[in-house]
Amino acid sequence: MEKLEQIYEGKAKKVYRTDDPELCIVEYKDDATAENGKKRGTIVGKGVVNNQMTNRLMARMEKAGIPTHFVRELSERETLVKKVSIVPLEVIIRNISAGHFASRYGVEEGIVFDSPTIEFSYKNDELDDPLLNAYHARALKLATAGEIETIKKYAFAVNEELKAFWKECGVILVDFKLEFGRLPDGTIVLADEISPDTCRLWDEKTHEKLDKDRFRRDMGGVEDAYAEVMKRLLAHDNG
Ligand code: ADP
Ligand code: UDP
Repeated sequence: MEKLEQIYEGKAKKVYRTDDPELCIVEYKDDATAENGKKRGTIVGKGVVNNQMTNRLMARMEKAGIPTHFVRELSERETLVKKVSIVPLEVIIRNISAGHFASRYGVEEGIVFDSPTIEFSYKNDELDDPLLNAYHARALKLATAGEIETIKKYAFAVNEELKAFWKECGVILVDFKLEFGRLPDGTIVLADEISPDTCRLWDEKTHEKLDKDRFRRDMGGVEDAYAEVMKRLLAHDNG
C-alpha cells in the first residue's frame, strides 16, 4: 500500500490518498482544538492513543455487526481506512447530561437519562456546527430519510456496545460524537474516530474526567487522562 499525497488536513488528523482509489490513510496528530478551533494546543501522545483506541473500538463494532471504515492499522499514528463520502452530520448520543446539553437546557452535569438521546449538528465550521433535526437534514439534502434511519440505528447500537465495554473498564460513557460515510455503492458505514477527543469518559468511582474536557476546561492532567483510559482499554480488550 503506497501512501500518496495529502488530500486534507483537519484539526486532529491528516488524510492521504493511496494507490487504491477506494482506500485512504488517516494520520492522527497531537494537535488539540476546542470551541471550533478558537482554543488551540498540543496533547503529547494523543495521536497515538486516539489512533489505537479508535481501531480497537472500530474492530469491536464490526464484531457487533456495525459496518465501519476500518481496514488495518499501519503504524502508531496511521491507519488504512475505506475512503467514504462523509455525511456532513455530527451524530451525538448522550447517556448523562454534560457539556452543551447542560448549558443549553440549564441543568447540571451528571443527570442519568432514562434512555439515551440523539442529536445532530451540521458539520460546517463556518456556521459553528449548528444543531439541526432530521427534517432539516433532509431539507438541506445532507442525507436521505433512509440514511438517517440507518445512522440512528447504528448510533444507538454503537452506544450499547461502547457503554458495556467501558463499564468493564470501570469507565462511564457519558456522551460521544460519531460520523458516518457512504461507500461508493451507497452503503452507510461508521467513519472518523472514537477516542477521548470525541467521547466523554468518567471514572466509575470518582467521576474524574478522563477525556478532552480536561483540555477544554484547563484542568491539567490531560496526557495522564488519555494514557489512563488507553491503559484500561488495553487491559480489557483482547483483540
Ligand atoms: P476536522 O475536519 O473536523 O478538523 P479531523 O482533523 O479529524 O476533523 O479530520 C479528519 C477528516 O477526515 C474529517 O473531516 C473526517 O470527516 C474525515 N474522514 C474520517 N474518516 C474518513 C474516511 N473513511 N474517508 C474520508 N474522510 C474521512
Ligand atoms: N463532540 C465532538 N466534536 C464536536 C462536538 C462534540 O467530538 O465538534 C463530542 C464531545 O466530545 C462530547 C459530545 O460530542 O463527547 C457532546 O458534546 P457537546 O454537544 O456537549 O459539545 P462540547 O461541549 O463538547 O462542545
